[in-house]
Amino acid sequence: AEHTPTDTTESSSLRTPIVAVLGHVDHGKTTLLDKIRGSAVTEGEAGAITQHIGSTAVPLSVIGEMAGDLVDPEDFDLPGLLFIDTPGHHSFSTLRSRGGALADIAIVVVDVTDGFQPQTEEALDILRRTQTPFIVAANKVDTIPGWNPTDDQPIQASKERQPDRVQSDLDERLYELIGQLSDEGFSADFYWRVQNFQNNIGVVPLSAMTGEGVPDLLTVLMGLSQRYLKEEMAVDVTGPGAGTVLEVTDERGFGTTIDAVVYDGTIRADDQLVVGGLEEPIVTEVRALLQPRPLAEIRTEKEFEKVDSVAAAAGVKIAAPDLDDAMAGAPVRVVRDRPVEEVIAEVEAELAEVEVQTAEEG
Ligand code: GDP
Repeated sequence: AEHTPTDTTESSSLRTPIVAVLGHVDHGKTTLLDKIRGSAVTEGEAGAITQHIGSTAVPLSVIGEMAGDLVDPEDFDLPGLLFIDTPGHHSFSTLRSRGGALADIAIVVVDVTDGFQPQTEEALDILRRTQTPFIVAANKVDTIPGWNPTDDQPIQASKERQPDRVQSDLDERLYELIGQLSDEGFSADFYWRVQNFQNNIGVVPLSAMTGEGVPDLLTVLMGLSQRYLKEEMAVDVTGPGAGTVLEVTDERGFGTTIDAVVYDGTIRADDQLVVGGLEEPIVTEVRALLQPRPLAEIRTEKEFEKVDSVAAAAGVKIAAPDLDDAMAGAPVRVVRDRPVEEVIAEVEAELAEVEVQTAEEG
């Protein structure tokens, strides 16, 4: 089946799972995202990866090429993965603490030498509370003394090529991580030993720098999504859109805009919206839906192009009046054929839930 995650004209039956990368500062979140984007580009399919606002869509065909023998695209019918781009951004931590329905699945990055750190624990708390399935990327295996890197290879082959003492050094560190996960109440194991990823957390040793183990990470993510998220991904992508605000930013020529991730339905350029606000829900009308120009680097990109509609799952910048009080982590809903009061009530209910969670955190 041909599913293009960015195709906004055709209704595909399964949407792209949204992947968040979490973890302690400097443990390698940005490097990992850059590696995934970079490898996908060098696979010669640059045109197939799409840069969204705040996220990157990697289609199944590209994942298949990156994962080599580990993934047969025939085994999957999810269209690919949408990676949220801003792991270290402060609004992302607001968003995480608000615990909104942002990610369907997560990667917790842990430096194999540094082990668990405060933001690792924080990430696990959030994932536990939101019941988000996740895997652990045991990063920086290349820093183990004596490690001989083999770029972009599956990790087991790469590990077997290391001297015995290097292999046992890695194993020791991984067992320590598995022990720390167990102290946090998560049963975990080397990913290749995990039979049931619903009961056990898979630990994927890798290097975001050399790319070793990245094929494995993508394979496990795809497998987990396919197995456990398929029902959730079966959305009506033509229905009224629902999303989460990632950021509220001023954009020259557009005033206050919101960057949002759309996880359900479609937002059209003429839709009425309800957006969660500081005081009360904001009722407004889309003035423009904006995407980065194709192949532009998101973090330096200033030029946007207007699009007619955006279907889940995707990132989008929304220009609309009265967005000054919009909040990162708040819901965005399309009104379309429903009474606006009903949608306001929905947004209020969702915000109330968010506030309860924030209060529980103290
Ligand atoms: P973030 O704060 O979690 O986004 O971490 P970064 O991706 O910025 O990485 C922090 C530092 O660790 C940078 O200097 C990276 O180059 C380095 N780093 C990240 N991953 C690896 C890895 O797999 N191996 C090595 N040797 N260094 C890494």
